[in-house]
Amino acid sequence: MNTNSDIVLANPRGFCAGVDRAIIIVEQALEKFGAPIYVRHEVVHNKFVVDQLRAKGAIFVEELDEIPAGSTVIFSAHGVSKAVRAEADTRGLTAYDATCPLVTKVHIEVEKMRKAGLEIVMIGHKGHPEVEGTMGQVDEQEDATGMYLVETPEDVAALQVRNPDMLAYVTQTTLSLDDAAMVVEALQKRFPNIKAPRSDSICYATQNRQDAIKIMAKDCDLVIIVGSPNSSNSNRLREVAQNQGVEAYMVDNASFLKPEWLTGKQKIGVSAGASAPEVLVQEVIAKLQQLGANQVQELHGVVENVVFQLPKNLTNAVKKSPSNH
Ligand code: SF4
Repeated sequence: MNTNSDIVLANPRGFCAGVDRAIIIVEQALEKFGAPIYVRHEVVHNKFVVDQLRAKGAIFVEELDEIPAGSTVIFSAHGVSKAVRAEADTRGLTAYDATCPLVTKVHIEVEKMRKAGLEIVMIGHKGHPEVEGTMGQVDEQEDATGMYLVETPEDVAALQVRNPDMLAYVTQTTLSLDDAAMVVEALQKRFPNIKAPRSDSICYATQNRQDAIKIMAKDCDLVIIVGSPNSSNSNRLREVAQNQGVEAYMVDNASFLKPEWLTGKQKIGVSAGASAPEVLVQEVIAKLQQLGANQVQELHGVVENVVFQLPKNLTNAVKKSPSNH
């Protein structure tokens, strides 16, 4: 099959600093303390990454009561509620926190807003673990009506708050910037005194990857995003391409590519969500070339130099560990 199409690669794409850090935390814990290491929720939303860590001895669970008392647990990059932290303590678990520091930043902001007596509107996707963790920064004994979740401008229209003048908002870190802007606009229209977070909650990696898709997609007639179905930021990349009027698909790996997608296409754009490893991108490129695509052109983009430190209790434990020669 000859599609006569070329491939363009978005830049930046793939792993962000928070995902890199989360994977290193699980790997270091496995290396220094030995298997099994329990991980609450998929440490990052990527099947390949999770399968690799599982093969090394990580056990992924959804709830802490699945973990034997006294074990080691790692909280995923998406963050956890205060109730989960408290439960880990009660169960005598040693916890290492792979919550992305940019999610923690939002948690701290929520806490400050609550201390200032504000009710908080969170813009995010219902059921996503990051949303559960951030919504769960309000103490359990506090009035649960202090925090509201909205996804769309329609949700904003239906929102009932106690005092419209004592309101603030935060967002999930991996939203579509354009969709979030629409919801913020609706909030500001309905609640003119609503306070914005001190800095944008949508993270640098989400912003850079979405900007790169916009630059790439305008010259493409097909866009492939490498990412797992439960990856919020990968789904948003596909939507950003589709919103540019381009046919776009998300694939977990090269085996999901369908030859018919390439029919009649001139330029195929490829990118990857923040939790998708580059090896999967290279496999997708190789498969596209097997299917007849020609040369690959990598676009220029923002250079990311963000590196996050590992949790102090892990680095200290690793230093003390007898296996650390
Ligand atoms: S996508 Fe953003 S918030 Fe999520 S892990 Fe990466 S850097 Fe952190």
